[in-house]
Amino acid sequence: MRLQFLGAARQVTGSMYYLQTKAGKFLVDCGFYQGPDHPRQQNRRDFGFDVRKLDWVLLTHAHLDHCGLLPRLAAMGFQGEVICTSGTADLSELILLDSAHIQQEDAEFDMKRWRRHGRQGPPPLPLYTVEDAHNCLQTFRDVSYDQVEELAPGLAVRFRDAGHILGAASVEIWIKEGGAERSVVFSGDLGSSGRPILRDPHLPGPADVVVTESTYGDRQCESYEQTVAQFAEAVAATLADGGQVIIPSFAVGRTQTVFYELAELIRSGQIPAIPVFIDSPMAIEATGILRRHPECFDEEMNQLIQADQSPFQLPQLEICRSRDASIAINDFRDPCIIISASGMCTGGRIRHHLRHHLERPQDMLLFVGYQAAGTLGRAIVDGARRVQVFPHEYHDVRCRVEQIDGFSAHADSAELVDWITAVGAEAEAIFCTHGEEPAATALAQQLRQRLTASVYVPELLDVVDLRRLSLIDSVGVAG
Ligand SMILES: [Zn+2]
Repeated sequence: MRLQFLGAARQVTGSMYYLQTKAGKFLVDCGFYQGPDHPRQQNRRDFGFDVRKLDWVLLTHAHLDHCGLLPRLAAMGFQGEVICTSGTADLSELILLDSAHIQQEDAEFDMKRWRRHGRQGPPPLPLYTVEDAHNCLQTFRDVSYDQVEELAPGLAVRFRDAGHILGAASVEIWIKEGGAERSVVFSGDLGSSGRPILRDPHLPGPADVVVTESTYGDRQCESYEQTVAQFAEAVAATLADGGQVIIPSFAVGRTQTVFYELAELIRSGQIPAIPVFIDSPMAIEATGILRRHPECFDEEMNQLIQADQSPFQLPQLEICRSRDASIAINDFRDPCIIISASGMCTGGRIRHHLRHHLERPQDMLLFVGYQAAGTLGRAIVDGARRVQVFPHEYHDVRCRVEQIDGFSAHADSAELVDWITAVGAEAEAIFCTHGEEPAATALAQQLRQRLTASVYVPELLDVVDLRRLSLIDSVGVAG
């Protein structure tokens, strides 16, 4: 019974945990590394175990930093099953195929450069291909929330709603081995309570070992009501000035939340019924997938749908699937709202909108998510007066720029502490992962004051003996 931390140790990316039991070997998550500098070799490193002997991957949710390396696992000979909820399976298909396309495009670009620069070294290959993604999707098996699933004698699992994005789950694992029994809970990414559309996180049962995320382990977020009020005020002010509002947004999760609130604000008359453009093919797909999963909706959302007031239907909604439809938005001069990806302006159609709006003082660029260091979004939020939007193309930033943080799909430190205190009330060991070092450490300190468990902030490749509950190895890779 061993657990090894293969990612998300003292950082918020690349979630991957390897468990070895007599009943089988499995991963919890198999995430892509998306650090600020995107060192590509991180995602090409050896997994550190025999992929062909891996039996299962328990997938908590479809964000790329949790599922993004699954196609690579398939390419390296994975024969087992990926087990997740049906919402996660549907979203993973969208996200992994998109990721595979990007990998292939990047490799083609690198290949041209490699040919131009004298073909030095081995030719660049994609991290994985669309075919690898399709192969890996074949291995998915979905399970229902709250059902105990016996994977093998002595090994059972259960997925509980984590309230983070569609299909997201915390995973409970029960291991029986030679007279010893252990229950281990992985939080996955935990959502914040009281958010629209999806249910709040459900509490798993008490566990011996808790492996928790700590993204906001050192941060207290303002109330969601305040966030929405701030959002309404910013949007209303720009529209009243005759301006247009541009919202760079992540396709999965954030776009749907923002869209929901816009619909509410229009319905309640707090902002006028202006046209809303959704200009991101992936966001459109993700919204379609969300609509097909009413089993994940909270009560309020179900009531809205029963009253025929689906927040996904607005009187002047423009869904821009094609490139032409996207370009046509440029001719629209009246007040409107444009939601486009990517959320940090690192690529996608949002860049074309920046080209048209950055220099217009009456317009507003409204950021609704975290902007990582080194991204175009971060430069603008930090107050850059002139930015590069395309190669050799610079624009002055003359529009209004606003950033609203509270739409994050992550629990804040108080919510994390409450959740862990309940699940870990009788735990012997708690591991704080998926957080920058200050956040993970701050959370660990709070937990030590409240709980009797030993609380650790593990390093990458640390190994835990789950029977004795001690760190047995800080270097090297488990076999
Ligand atoms: Zn996530």
